[in-house]
Amino acid sequence: MQLLAVQVTVLERTREAGKKILMSGGSRCNVLPLAADPNIDFFTASSRGALRAVLASWALQDCKDWLSSDVGLQLQLEQETNKWFPASNSSREVRDRLVEACQQLGVRFVYNASVEGLQPPQAAAAAAAGADALQETQGPSSSSSSSSSWTVLLASGAKVSAERIIFSTGGRSFPAVGTDGTGLNLLQGAGHNLVAQYAALTPLKGAHPGGQQLAGLTLPSVRLSVAAANKPSKVAAVAQRGGLLFTHKGYSGPAVLDLSHWLVRELDQQQQQAAMPRLLVDWTGEGAEVWQERLAAASGAATVENVLRKAGVKERLAAALAIEVGVQGRQMSQLKKGERQALLAALTAWQLPISSHEGYKKAEVTGGGLPLEQVDCRTMESRLLPGLHVCGEVLDVFGRIGGFNFLWAWVTGRLAGLGAAAQLGLPAAAAAAAPPPQSRARR
Ligand SMILES: Cc1cc2nc3c(=O)[nH]c(=O)nc-3n(C[C@H](O)[C@H](O)[C@H](O)COP(=O)(O)OP(=O)(O)OC[C@H]3O[C@@H](n4cnc5c(N)ncnc54)[C@H](O)[C@@H]3O)c2cc1C
Repeated sequence: MQLLAVQVTVLERTREAGKKILMSGGSRCNVLPLAADPNIDFFTASSRGALRAVLASWALQDCKDWLSSDVGLQLQLEQETNKWFPASNSSREVRDRLVEACQQLGVRFVYNASVEGLQPPQAAAAAAAGADALQETQGPSSSSSSSSSWTVLLASGAKVSAERIIFSTGGRSFPAVGTDGTGLNLLQGAGHNLVAQYAALTPLKGAHPGGQQLAGLTLPSVRLSVAAANKPSKVAAVAQRGGLLFTHKGYSGPAVLDLSHWLVRELDQQQQQAAMPRLLVDWTGEGAEVWQERLAAASGAATVENVLRKAGVKERLAAALAIEVGVQGRQMSQLKKGERQALLAALTAWQLPISSHEGYKKAEVTGGGLPLEQVDCRTMESRLLPGLHVCGEVLDVFGRIGGFNFLWAWVTGRLAGLGAAAQLGLPAAAAAAAPPPQSRARR
């Protein structure tokens, strides 16, 4: 590793770096996906072209090589989910190795340093000049700002000078671990126009089928889709087949989290229930045709619950669905045509009665943020405030469950770091920072 020719200082408001890494992936940290498609795996209101250009700036394999070689993590693929984890399954190892790698390069970490204000070079210089003039009459100046340096104001009252700022404050999710939106407020206060934020990858609240309490039950492979409120046949989004968890308050699990933002935004705007998109679930993910044949082939003497259980529906859910349709304890031969149809619909297109969501308190990420149009996507430098490079979740991009959010953080962090270094005249960084011509975002 080459030692840095500039002093890099990390200002972290909590007592340690990378708390989100520690809590990620069920403490295993899903560091990367096996493959990423910008059109399917990421959500943004910003330009898709810019999103694609940013992701194209660093091939997934190169990012993985960096984690293996530079950071020193042995990675292991979870075949069923196409997710990369550390072989140790320890998110602490990921965090510790990243911090160690930084320290070996000479990066300085300052903890309990909450950034509450940013003064760009000219404003900082003017403020420093004002302070100097004042202090000429009162005593010696403590300010070291030059006309080219930023001043970072900390909650303690201390000031830090820097030639370049890499802004990676995260979003609003899990405010208890330091990410309470201060960063977004700072960007907005500095004149950026932000995309309205919303909780994403967050659990949803709502009753369970059949008036039952199914908390704790997990289903490994449901198929969820979002249908437009007024046109049930118009599917707006489909989650890949994935897990669903019944929580005490409603629903969670990868399939639900991935689609939660479709409802969160509507719920936040307090849409009338009738105008809300519908979240439909196929509990086994097998589709209506398979179930239609299965129900037709079932023994007439078997009860509905038994047929469902034999086909792999968990016992408590089978009972709940039978109640939902009003056919509990009935034999298949006793079902009327309408009841069979209702049963089929309950099995393959049951509408989750979502009433609200768990918000930022439990959201894995924040949707919205700084639009990509407001940064130069080659260096992530703010178009409004030169010298400020923005990366990670504070930008208006988030990915679905599966390592996509760390991929976004790694890729944009690299561009921001290289961009800042190039501006400081580090030649190798300047070369590495330039993405291939075909992937450049429009300026
Ligand atoms: C429970 C959970 C599980 C997750 N699991 C995964 C997973 O397995 N895979 C995946 O890809 N993604 C996962 N994510 C998402 C992922 O953690 C984030 O998208 C990613 O950490 C964003 O990185 P970031 O550097 O932009 O922001 P963050 O990791 O949020 O870091 C921001 C840092 O800035 C600090 N900070 C904020 N404001 C200030 C301030 N004013 N002054 C000083 N410091 C400040 C914060 O304390 C924090 O340390 C998970 C998220 C959660 C909450």
